[in-house]
Amino acid sequence: KERRQLEITAGDLQLEAHRDPLTGSFNRRVMYTDLEEVQVSVGTTRRPATIVMLDIDHFKTYNDIYGHTAGDQVLRMVAQRIQKEIRPADRLYRYGGEEFLVLLPETALEQGEVIATRIARSITTLGLPHQRNDPWGVVTVSAGVAAVDPYNPATGLTVAAADAALYRSKASGRNTVATSHLEPITDF
Ligand code: GH3
Ligand code: MG
Ligand code: MG
Repeated sequence: KERRQLEITAGDLQLEAHRDPLTGSFNRRVMYTDLEEVQVSVGTTRRPATIVMLDIDHFKTYNDIYGHTAGDQVLRMVAQRIQKEIRPADRLYRYGGEEFLVLLPETALEQGEVIATRIARSITTLGLPHQRNDPWGVVTVSAGVAAVDPYNPATGLTVAAADAALYRSKASGRNTVATSHLEPITDF
């Protein structure tokens, strides 16, 4: 009985080491481990994988208007909605404050773009009021999509590509999806 108690405690610790306590999504540390693994598997099997970076639009303003506790609640609901839109094999990570990353194994870039668009629409449909998020008036996200490059072993580059695409989504007015179409680097 004592041993069983210890096992549960170890399991709890394991959970805490891997998950973000606010949203229950996987944390950034797990993300990098998973990305490295996927990078290797894409390189050896030549089966694609795609990542989506999502960032809540004008979230600083949200906190300013509705308060930090309400902001936390939005983070939980957004994470929950993303989780609902993805398959069991896909993984959701909290990348930073109001930024999430979704890893889509066995998914080509174009398909990833479709999924990212579906997630973004779904979050808009939640209808969480955000009066200063013009012209929608509800909480929205912007997204950047990038494929894992089978020729390049640096996971940082995939994340940077998704981040650059996300930046373009923001620049083009938010609540939208942009895709990185960078040519794979082959001469390393
Ligand atoms: P943009 O549309 O360009 O993304 O603007 P933004 O305001 O969302 O981006 P910015 O990076 O300026 O602000 C991010 C905000 O997210 C600021 C910070 O207070 C809020 N934030 C980060 N983490 C948390 C959190 O755990 N809880 C709450 N409530 N707010 C958070
Ligand atoms: Mg941000
Ligand atoms: Mg933001």
